Amino acid sequence: MPALLDLLLATRNDGKVAELRALLSDLPVRLHTLDAFPDAPEVVEDRPTLKGNARKKAEALAAFTGLPALADDTGLEVDALDGRPGVHTARFAGETAPAADNRRKLLRVLDGRPNRGAQFRTVVALTDPDDAQDGSTDDTHCVEGVCRGRIARTERGDGGFGYDEIFIPNDAPAEQTFAQMSAGAKNAVSHRRRALDALRAHLEARLSEKRQ
Ligand code: IMP
Repeated sequence: MPALLDLLLATRNDGKVAELRALLSDLPVRLHTLDAFPDAPEVVEDRPTLKGNARKKAEALAAFTGLPALADDTGLEVDALDGRPGVHTARFAGETAPAADNRRKLLRVLDGRPNRGAQFRTVVALTDPDDAQDGSTDDTHCVEGVCRGRIARTERGDGGFGYDEIFIPNDAPAEQTFAQMSAGAKNAVSHRRRALDALRAHLEARLSEKRQ
């Protein structure tokens, strides 16, 4: 019987949960979601960097649940906007703006601009409450993944979430947006995939510690 690592997916975004489940499916992890913790605090993403927000979410929810917690914070960095909206991606069209408004605003801002280059950057943070108690090590491990691409001229597709309808990754077949790709095809090239590939060695080390 292989050792299992309990891992809380510290997000209320169902799209992210589905992607993270698929991306972690070949590891012996037992995944938990916030559905099991209805009283978990809403973490305010007020740090100036993606890393700061990812850490804040993972640390708050590991402390609340007592489980190792994995959180990600993602930004869309647009070349013609000097890397904006970046850490403000979720609030591009206003504090509580729906994803459709954010996409429409970005298409409007880029209207007529030839340079459509952009990238998704995601920082994944993993906090293990056992490390936090130990005090001898940094209790949060952070990794990053980047997916280069460009912003489409119009929305295309209906899969995925967030900005997927207007982002064409460089590795996409036939110029597809993320929203036109199958979940598996997005997961093969996405920023989240690249970040989790970078986290894999750390997770495997945790698992082998548990086996000893
Ligand atoms: P957060 O990481 O949940 O704070 O998300 C920041 C913003 O990026 C939100 O507007 C999300 O909808 C968007 N976002 C995060 N990941 C993705 C993705 O994989 N595709 C498209 N949009 C995303």
